[in-house]
Amino acid sequence: MSFSKLGLSDPIIKAVKDLGYSKPTPIQRESIPAVLLGKNILGTSQTGTGKTASFVLPLLEKLSKVTKRGKKQITRGKRIRALILTPTRELAVQIEESVAQYSKYLDLSSMALYGGVDVEPQKERLIEGVDILVATPGRLLDLVHQRAIYFDEVEMLVLDEADRMLDMGFIDDISKIIERLPFDRQNLLFSATINADVRSLADSFSGDGFSGVG
Ligand code: AMP
Repeated sequence: MSFSKLGLSDPIIKAVKDLGYSKPTPIQRESIPAVLLGKNILGTSQTGTGKTASFVLPLLEKLSKVTKRGKKQITRGKRIRALILTPTRELAVQIEESVAQYSKYLDLSSMALYGGVDVEPQKERLIEGVDILVATPGRLLDLVHQRAIYFDEVEMLVLDEADRMLDMGFIDDISKIIERLPFDRQNLLFSATINADVRSLADSFSGDGFSGVG
């Protein structure tokens, strides 16, 4: 089984090959085709299994698709097309680095957004719009309140390490973010454990239900 069999296009396969990946991991084999089909995913893979690429690669594939008129979709100022929520600054930085590596042959922009640093450069960067934003919930909500970012063009939401975000007390922030997102979007939720809280979070934002992977 190779990456090309999963429905990914050449620029993404080339980027993955550059990193020395020869074949997809089990979670990638399951998740990538399902995400490309537009399904909502509830994944239970742990870190170290190739989980990040299992949602980033199909997300890039979908966002890089040209529009019906044959042009790349332009992201407007202060807008984003995909939102990846993570519990910590370290994870936000690490995931954004993966996004940058996997998208190096694509015309897509990405940014990591987190608290504990000056907010002004982050606001500046958002002015032009960013295709893929990897963010921690608190700082993101701050910027929403400051009208530095709008969610009306969000097509895909990823909640990574959902159980950890709930343990860290982010439930209110996450709920406030989710209620501002367009209803018509794809949801990918990853969690090391699926407990009652994670299940109720998932149920709260997807009327269509989820396909389990991992
Ligand atoms: P993750 O589970 O997303 O934290 O990934 C763990 C590590 O596996 C990272 O260093 C990735 O670069 C690497 N990795 C992800 N997918 C593959 C693959 N298909 N083949 C080899 N290494 C991979």
